[in-house]
Amino acid sequence: MKKMDEIVNYCKENGFMYPGSQIYGGLANAWDYGPLGIELKRNIQNIWWQKFVQESPYNVGLDAAILMNPQVWVASGHVGGFSDPLMDCKECKNRFRADHLIEDNSNENPAGWSNEKMEQYIKDNNLKCPNCGASNFSEIKEFELMFKTQQGVISNEGSDIYLRPETAQGIFVNFKNVVRTTRRKLPLGIAQVGKAFRNEITPGNFIFRTREFEQMELEFFCKPGTDMEWFEYWKKYCMDWLLKYGLTADNLVYRDHEASELSHYSAGTVDIEYQFPFGQSELWGIANRTDYDLKAHQVASKESMEYHDPLTNEKYIPYVIEPSLGLNRVLLAFICDALVHDEERGDILKIHPDLAPYKICVMPLQKQQNEQAFTIYQALAKKYMVEFEASGNIGKRYKRQDLIGTPYCVTIDFDTENDDCVTIRDRDTTEQVRVKIAELENYFLDKFNL
Ligand code: ATP
Repeated sequence: MKKMDEIVNYCKENGFMYPGSQIYGGLANAWDYGPLGIELKRNIQNIWWQKFVQESPYNVGLDAAILMNPQVWVASGHVGGFSDPLMDCKECKNRFRADHLIEDNSNENPAGWSNEKMEQYIKDNNLKCPNCGASNFSEIKEFELMFKTQQGVISNEGSDIYLRPETAQGIFVNFKNVVRTTRRKLPLGIAQVGKAFRNEITPGNFIFRTREFEQMELEFFCKPGTDMEWFEYWKKYCMDWLLKYGLTADNLVYRDHEASELSHYSAGTVDIEYQFPFGQSELWGIANRTDYDLKAHQVASKESMEYHDPLTNEKYIPYVIEPSLGLNRVLLAFICDALVHDEERGDILKIHPDLAPYKICVMPLQKQQNEQAFTIYQALAKKYMVEFEASGNIGKRYKRQDLIGTPYCVTIDFDTENDDCVTIRDRDTTEQVRVKIAELENYFLDKFNL
């Protein structure tokens, strides 16, 4: 696997990502998706939707608003008591989470400790700054995880409102709407893709952890008691999806959360972790959120969140299994896994054809074939993202398409005039076949699923 700085360079140089607001010196940890990045992102979103909504007999989709009634975040536990305890090292100016410093340097579990207790423990045990070794910390400050803004046009007169830190709550507050209007029975999953915002303390590793990101989340509502079965079901479903689209099995592991790591709402969480160039890290979190969220919303909103089973007449608040995946994070994993170096051919993005930004590149060999080639391009472009490349020698053109992962190149060559055929070259095998122009669309029919 390439090193992280090589991956970042590759993405920047080939139009996958650009540093956000670059002409103004950028904005820390903000990235814009370029022409290739947006295609890859859309493709990932589509294959996720295909597997988690279209092909699942249980699931439906939703697109909730980013801005929600602030009471949602009080009920969910995000406002009040949900900020992180932060400390600055006065010597090197690095910032740390006080609870992590204690956890990493002792056998203690500081969950639930007051800030004063943590400060005292750090002093008494002379804990040192992991960066510079000094023992000179500021007092603990509470850190707001959520981005706050105001709704209303006159400053100071509007009401505080938050950018959502997860898409999940938009699903919970619509649970009853979806059950009622779809007339579905449980088990029922509601899937959503959308932006989330978190004031991360330590953003970084390129697009792995940013303050603005996209989540692909499923909240799967089921009968209490069946939750662990469904937990296992979704664990496997998620892993199968990653493997189907080409992530190397050896780079993926399940990691169960220890009891001390579990979120306040969780009866069990497993992460699918990926071996990124900077180390093995969380890719996909799969949590059993129990009935925590629906119950909390029922209490806070005074609206019943009970499900009435029409077959058994039972009433209950469902349990929820949540597979939550970062779109940007999995995009990074797909690039890390697919970008390989070949001694002769240089770098090749051997990405799954359904994910490739461009599916096909159409290339006329000589100028006088441009028009015919362009007609072929236009016909194929009705179905696929197709690149048209008329300049440069053929070797260089192949190289460029290998570099950006285009699975097939279609060349209109010297013989086309005589036999009405074009040459199709395969990115992975470099094998070439001749196909009649009239047969081209048929040829590609079984090459892509999307
Ligand atoms: P981490 O431990 O990496 O901070 P988390 O456990 O807080 O992640 P969840 O709240 O479970 O993350 O979010 C679900 C998924 O959303 C994660 O598995 C990850 O893929 C993605 N995600 C979370 N935070 C970010 C972020 N700041 N940037 C990009 N993706 C993120």
